Amino acid sequence: MADKGEHRRTTRRRFLHGAAVGAAGATLAGCTGSAPADGSAPAVQGNKRVTWRLASSFPRSLDTLFGCAETLAESLESMSGGMFRVRPYPAGELVPAFNVLDAVQQGTAQVGHSASYYYIGKNPALAFDAGLPFGLTARQQHSWLYEGGGADTLAPVFADFNVRSFPAGSTGVQMGGWFRREVNSLSDLSGLRMRIPGLGGQVMDRLGVNVQQIPGGEIFPALERGAIDATEWVGPYDDERLGFHKIAKHYYYPGWWEPGPTLSFYVNEKAWSSLSVEQQRMFRAASTEASMRMTAQYDAVNPPALKRLLDGGARLAPFPEDVMRAAEKASFELFEEQAAADAGYRNVYEPWKKVREGAYRWSSISEVAYSSFAIRP
Ligand code: CA
Repeated sequence: MADKGEHRRTTRRRFLHGAAVGAAGATLAGCTGSAPADGSAPAVQGNKRVTWRLASSFPRSLDTLFGCAETLAESLESMSGGMFRVRPYPAGELVPAFNVLDAVQQGTAQVGHSASYYYIGKNPALAFDAGLPFGLTARQQHSWLYEGGGADTLAPVFADFNVRSFPAGSTGVQMGGWFRREVNSLSDLSGLRMRIPGLGGQVMDRLGVNVQQIPGGEIFPALERGAIDATEWVGPYDDERLGFHKIAKHYYYPGWWEPGPTLSFYVNEKAWSSLSVEQQRMFRAASTEASMRMTAQYDAVNPPALKRLLDGGARLAPFPEDVMRAAEKASFELFEEQAAADAGYRNVYEPWKKVREGAYRWSSISEVAYSSFAIRP
């Protein structure tokens, strides 16, 4: 009986909570305040008008990536009845591509849109927010960040930058990139000049690759004039736009350095705390929608892009087993060295490693078990 009473009280609390949300919703729909002369939504009591600037690390031409920031802006504007506006600026318009975290930290932009592994020079633990070589898949990374303790584990790392981070979608497993000549064994990587940034580049360096750092717009000419032998980028849809298949025919997979790279929305702490509870809830909802839609979009646009690339003469090949094994070993040697040298890194790495172990075990008898039987090339 006591249980039943508790159940009734819980139901009552839920009902009251629902009623409160309903009332707030009615208010947000514009039941109070007078309409401004410009025809925009009327001011709402308790929810002041918010206009934020968003600095993105991505150009407008990468429509899947930049589109995630646009989805956030559209969703916030429509669910707030025009009261919460975010204006997305592509890379270079407000600040340069790799200055987004600094811009949000300093408040130049209230919100940023970037990939946290761009900033591992500031703190190597930031890599975990985006993903690591042989790390989590998109699904596992989302599970960790949204529900598995990842946000709390990373919060102190972001607090040092006066920022909080929200997931902003994943490309899914990336491709290994375009090679002018075949890679048949580990020894073929020796001295190969490859454009590959970040941690993947650090691991490739350990495998004997001559690693090059080249911004997106300069990769094609470098490949064309033979300054590099190979390059990675994202996957079929984005790669096709940069035209690498016209020069380098061998398209390797998988991009083991990016099994589930996840982008981020950074929000300046002061800007966040100036929002009402309803507006914070709106931001969480809108960013989750944008994140989910981008991840879904990649799985929709990649299959036809891959078909076009193969019809155009691209030759698909998996990385040889000895390359995969050596890369996996070198990756964890690198992580262990960083954990030994840096307590802040270790505080993220240790729980992440446990989460990865559990996620891999579960995945091995669910997604992987099913896929390895039913999903054949
Ligand atoms: Ca990449």
